[in-house]
Amino acid sequence: MTASDSTRPRILTGDTPTGRLHLGHYVGSLERRLAMQETHDCYFIVANVHALTTRSDKPDEIRADTLEVMRDWLAVGLDPDRSTLFVQSEIPAIAELTFFFSMLLGFGRVMRNPTIKDEIIVKNLGDTYSFGFLLYAVGQTADILTFRPEAVPVGEDQVAHIEMTREVARRFNQLYCGVSDQTPDDDHLRAGGLFPIPRAEVGRVGRLVGIDGVNKMSKSLGNAIYLSDTAKEVQKKVNRIFTGRQNPTDPGDPNNVLFQYLDAFHADKAMVADLRERYAGGRVGDGEVKKELGSAINALLDPIRQRRARYEGDDQAILEIIRAGCAKANTAAEQTLAAARKAMRMHFGERSLGYR
Ligand code: ATP
Ligand code: MG
Repeated sequence: MTASDSTRPRILTGDTPTGRLHLGHYVGSLERRLAMQETHDCYFIVANVHALTTRSDKPDEIRADTLEVMRDWLAVGLDPDRSTLFVQSEIPAIAELTFFFSMLLGFGRVMRNPTIKDEIIVKNLGDTYSFGFLLYAVGQTADILTFRPEAVPVGEDQVAHIEMTREVARRFNQLYCGVSDQTPDDDHLRAGGLFPIPRAEVGRVGRLVGIDGVNKMSKSLGNAIYLSDTAKEVQKKVNRIFTGRQNPTDPGDPNNVLFQYLDAFHADKAMVADLRERYAGGRVGDGEVKKELGSAINALLDPIRQRRARYEGDDQAILEIIRAGCAKANTAAEQTLAAARKAMRMHFGERSLGYR
């Protein structure tokens, strides 16, 4: 079965290669992807063009991170035989649709996107961000709609982007496919629309806090525990987490970052409940809680580390997986682009990519 003739419902999601993947990605999105691989036709994109928005001066780093994200995916268990793993810059249809879709969104609408506003502040972009930085929000609507997925598994911070994607899909279907503005979202395809109105599906933990205890765990903020950290590095990072507690006999905050992580990563819920009770009552020290947490995270990461070792240092194997995935992704993408161009009266004959 090829990706394009699958009858399974389709999903698309991905990551920007701004660094290695971390525990936030795992609970926010990767875990869902693993489950959906069994039941869905999955497209996973490494958004390397979007990485240029804040690092246009670092092409070598972006390329290295692109391979690294792929390696992280394979380590976690995303499977190139079942899912389509691909790289954004290899899919020309995405760039063409970005231009078309940019006409369907007002400038003010893009600027009001709360995720864009947050990123400008958190990433310290001031007013020096490029035009392309704003365009990435539109580009992301194209990353998604090019593959016409039903759903997009993402962390909470991405929901605003998916909302914009839904607006673009509705607008396109209404303007170019004759869908009425009264048509409910779920009926757009039946009413002749080209694009489904995709749903955001937020993972088990929509926003995992970083080890700073303040911001979202993020590759760009240096507050992450990476899937590729060694067991020692993990325990060291856990030990550094600041709780503000002076003595083991002080009542501790049972919802601080240590306990948020225990809830997210410890398999034994009864044990966490017991620790939490003792912590709140001042009957267990931070040290013991941190040791328990480090072990729980390492138990999750051990099988990922073992799978990762197979691909360590082997860029050739990763490149082959990328090329095979991009060929499959382009088949689906070119179908969407041709249909979109027809709907927009911009189609003057069949053309082929000539991509090998
Ligand atoms: P950057 O700092 O460069 O924006 P990031 O760490 O936010 O990187 P992205 O590549 O932007 O990572 O996000 C990839 C996916 O992982 C998105 O679906 C995002 O919502 C999700 N995600 C990222 N960080 C977290 C987190 N801390 N908790 C839950 N989900 C997250
Ligand atoms: Mg992000």
